[in-house]
Amino acid sequence: MTAGTATVEQAARGLIARAEEVALCLDFDGTLSPVVDDPQAARPLQGIVELLEPLARRFAAVALISGRPAPYLAEHVAAPGVRYLGLYGLQEMYEGQVRVDPRLEAARSAVDAAAAALRESPAVRESGAWLEDKVYAVGVHTRRVPDRDRWTDAVDRTAREIAEQYGLEIIPGKMVWELRPAVRGDKGDGVRRVVAESGARAVVVVGDDLGDLPAFAAVAELAAEGHDGLRVAVRSQEAPPELLAAADLVLEGPEGVLDFLRRLAT
Ligand SMILES: [Mg+2]
Repeated sequence: MTAGTATVEQAARGLIARAEEVALCLDFDGTLSPVVDDPQAARPLQGIVELLEPLARRFAAVALISGRPAPYLAEHVAAPGVRYLGLYGLQEMYEGQVRVDPRLEAARSAVDAAAAALRESPAVRESGAWLEDKVYAVGVHTRRVPDRDRWTDAVDRTAREIAEQYGLEIIPGKMVWELRPAVRGDKGDGVRRVVAESGARAVVVVGDDLGDLPAFAAVAELAAEGHDGLRVAVRSQEAPPELLAAADLVLEGPEGVLDFLRRLAT
């Protein structure tokens, strides 16, 4: 499945033929849900949620892998049989049970202190940047900041300084900086876990942002170990060129993902 650039039609046909041994790993923001100005208002594109239960029955696994907290994913994309890997795989909800990496739990106080420092910083206060409490991480969003270009450098500098001060990692994205404990965990780990635990022999990863590159890398590693893999990028105006370049298949926005999932569910 990794060879060459597949068409949607070909890719879907190939996956359906061996669905019971294929794990589907899906990003949330920009993949299942259109990107909106208010991150809390992000919802899956209409028609997607109802496809996930039949897909979970048919495929080896259906997992949502996102930087969001797992309970957020489970609430807004509720479908029986789906695994919700939040916080880049460090937190998981499956059939109502939550499990969290113990290293994350131990770093909570540093995250709380960093969030307080951000809240009081001039760059955040004066720009009107929005702080997202992710419990085990804190996000600084400038998407809704008026005159954003003026503030980007100051917010970037502040976020980096505070991250360093509290021993946190900083993960920049599209108009967002995430400060989180330096606990190793990325979407690639999530992908590997889903594949290992489901016994899948093939894996499909669908994503739209820089955070999905480690998931793409995991597909390549799994391929080297004998699995089949398909890296699917979701194109938007903001899609990173390196993600598109690394993809075996490119879908056009969440609408393209809906079409792809419909084909898989048929
Ligand atoms: Mg995304």
